[in-house]
Amino acid sequence: MNSYDSIIIGGGISGLLSALVLSKSGKKVLLLERNRNLGNNCNSYSVDGYQVDTGPHAITQLQDGGPLRYLMENYFDYLPAFVDYGDYFIRDEDGLKEVPTTLKGYLTMDILPRKDRLIIAQSLTKMLLSWQFGTDISNISVYQCLPWNTLSPDTKEFMDTFSYFLSGKSAKETSVQRMFVGGGFIEEDIEKDVTHENNEHQYIDKFKKMSYVSRLLNNNKVNYNQYYPRNGLKAILDAILYSLPENVEIKTDTAVENIITVNSTAKGVVTKEGSYFADTIIYSGFAKDLPKYTTDLPASYISDLSRIKQSKALTIWLGLDEEFEEFNYVGGEVWFKNKPFWAMPISNYNKNFAPGGKKLVGFMFSIDGNNSFESEKLDAYNTILRVYPGINNYIDMVHYQMTIPEKASVAINGFIAETVTPIKNLYLVGTDVDDRSMGITRAAYSVVKLITVLKKERIIDS
Ligand SMILES: Cc1cc2nc3c(=O)[nH]c(=O)nc-3n(C[C@H](O)[C@H](O)[C@H](O)COP(=O)(O)OP(=O)(O)OC[C@H]3O[C@@H](n4cnc5c(N)ncnc54)[C@H](O)[C@@H]3O)c2cc1C
Repeated sequence: MNSYDSIIIGGGISGLLSALVLSKSGKKVLLLERNRNLGNNCNSYSVDGYQVDTGPHAITQLQDGGPLRYLMENYFDYLPAFVDYGDYFIRDEDGLKEVPTTLKGYLTMDILPRKDRLIIAQSLTKMLLSWQFGTDISNISVYQCLPWNTLSPDTKEFMDTFSYFLSGKSAKETSVQRMFVGGGFIEEDIEKDVTHENNEHQYIDKFKKMSYVSRLLNNNKVNYNQYYPRNGLKAILDAILYSLPENVEIKTDTAVENIITVNSTAKGVVTKEGSYFADTIIYSGFAKDLPKYTTDLPASYISDLSRIKQSKALTIWLGLDEEFEEFNYVGGEVWFKNKPFWAMPISNYNKNFAPGGKKLVGFMFSIDGNNSFESEKLDAYNTILRVYPGINNYIDMVHYQMTIPEKASVAINGFIAETVTPIKNLYLVGTDVDDRSMGITRAAYSVVKLITVLKKERIIDS
């Protein structure tokens, strides 16, 4: 009775997509989630009449060949509706300025000193060229690639903020390669995963042409290719849940405490209410926590997992009276000076997210793990009051979320795990198992990689 073909540990989007793939491939699946609700970082819920998401989200790479698109087209019973993300803005004391989408626009934007803009363009172009000629730039940081000490304080903060959004870490820990290929601004695809072609050079060439920074440096117009699910993040979760066939059993409020192994082969899991057994176990929690669940991992693997770096995010959702006019656009804005944040007025995608006469805006801050939650909340809230003078007269609702957006930052000297683990029949999925793009797209990449491995190992049919 407690025997399944596959057990999935964790019911966030990676675990649910894995359950969908395996069940639609005919497997009897058990999914165990320790929380009361499914979805974790990919969900929406109600607060005082507003529908907030688990953090502001832009969904990347929904073009043909993008990993989420591939999974939706092949495994979903219906497709959630997505709308264009809109425009990106930078805010400073003078108001909103559109993020440049051409080199000319970049060179003439007045947010950073002209001298710094030229230095950045020159340094990055040099780096891009040496990469094109084969230099490994994966360990050269954005900080190292620029004459950091000559830059103005504003420019340093700008580069740090940009780095954070691309990798989850500062310019010192973000590789310049990530700046060229990362952040979901690129139209990479799953061609390599699906065709098993390993033509790294050709693949990288494609990357170089497509990233935001490299497009800009190559003087091509940038197209963000980002979207938002019209009915909120929950729409993606709902589409997966609707598509799950009957051969998937889900138990929430059920934490896996141990992974049972025999001769370094995974056989099942232990929970408070009993043990469950399966031929294949997929783990979608933090890879760095894996040693807590089994003593069967080699020391070298445990040491690699301990190198996984993470960062924390604080989101403040504000319900505002509609008369407050600072957020009358579709897209997102970045404040990069003194306590940077990314803001997204999500009720501009769908009026139903806020009660009549109100709007809903999410502000996401990166968090210093050494400070208390209370002091971070206060600091972030005061930053909003400082950046938008008078906003306090329009606030109708405040809601805080503290989260780890991605299980692994794509940082220099960080570690990204593989699908296959040293324990036979135990596989990993999630944002610490792939370094492409970010968030939900990265989670989808990890599931596409899982499909490839399971097909190769003849666990599911090709
Ligand atoms: C503020 C914020 C902003 C973001 N912005 C974006 C964005 O703009 N674009 C984008 O694409 N993505 C974004 N993301 C990231 C995206 O939401 C996540 O990367 C994605 O939802 C992670 O999915 P996951 O399934 O890999 O992990 P999780 O959501 O962490 O799910 C893992 C699940 O496993 C469960 N679990 C762990 N251990 C156990 C156990 N022992 N037993 C049972 N269950 C267990 C956990 O409870 C959890 O439910 C953002 C996230 C946040 C928080």
